[in-house]
Amino acid sequence: MKTVVSVQEIAELEIKPATEVAHWRRLVATEIAARWKNRADWISLSCPACKTGTFYNAFERLGIAYVECTDCGTLYAPKRPGEAALRDWYRESEPSRFWRERLLPVSAAARQEKIVRPRADWVLDGIAEYTPQARRLVDVSQHGRTLLNAIAQGAPGLTELVAAGVTADLEGASTARLEVRPSSTQELHGLGTSDVVVAVDVMDRAADPQALVRALERLLTPAGVLFATFPVASGFEVQTLWQDSPSIFPPDKLNLPTVDGLMRLFAAPGWEMLELSTPGMFDVETVRQALAARPDHPWPRIVRALVERTDAEGRENLVEFLQTRRLTSFARLVARRSP
Ligand SMILES: [Zn+2]
Repeated sequence: MKTVVSVQEIAELEIKPATEVAHWRRLVATEIAARWKNRADWISLSCPACKTGTFYNAFERLGIAYVECTDCGTLYAPKRPGEAALRDWYRESEPSRFWRERLLPVSAAARQEKIVRPRADWVLDGIAEYTPQARRLVDVSQHGRTLLNAIAQGAPGLTELVAAGVTADLEGASTARLEVRPSSTQELHGLGTSDVVVAVDVMDRAADPQALVRALERLLTPAGVLFATFPVASGFEVQTLWQDSPSIFPPDKLNLPTVDGLMRLFAAPGWEMLELSTPGMFDVETVRQALAARPDHPWPRIVRALVERTDAEGRENLVEFLQTRRLTSFARLVARRSP
């Protein structure tokens, strides 16, 4: 299995204007309080990575409780809205509309250059290396159309592409080569099998990640390849800031597996892990900003020593060390379905 270091992987929130993001965060808080006042129909879940039912209480974020799996350390909300309620959130809620109609357009150029292009290169390189004969690709991501277009352009061998994310029809129409077909987890098998599946930031907001992984396994042809990205709980930023981590924001981040949890979720005999990297580059900077914002908080002395009392080069070295040890808070993986 491969681990890639020193990739300039940037999270969506990092390239968006701060005032707009702050507004979006307020919309999310208001919408959760209003839309999900009554939680009688919410579902209960054990660890989404390893299925263990025991946990330590962690913290609450926007009124949603998070726990830590006693076995693999995955951080997750044990009670959450079901898949249909989450689909409605992403299609109809005011914060989701704001994200789609305001945040994405204002950051479109930066997103294309800093997020879409590097991810397209990652997928295209992976296809060339692991499945050069691939003809069909299904993307189950939200806001995946720009990435899908870039992949289509770079891989003429892919004759059939399907945009199956829950908001795919809101992002563009079908073309001769690309079919738009938003699908629930249950509907994925109806799409027919595929040589390649792309799932960018899908697992973190899935109502039932175990069911989703099973559906992706069925969606892939034997030896088909999955490209997926995840926020992870085992990274430096989340481990250091924990309840204060600005990146944990439901319902986007209901599931934050650890690297250990991901290894179990994509384990043999169903899967072969081809690459598992944590190319996140903002862990140290996010922690530095948190320390600067609350200088009187009793932060662990070692964190101050590593992040605050070191220079820019030292912080860069720390990022590289974290990536080498898979200890940043953003992971990407390439996994092959068993032949
Ligand atoms: Zn677990």
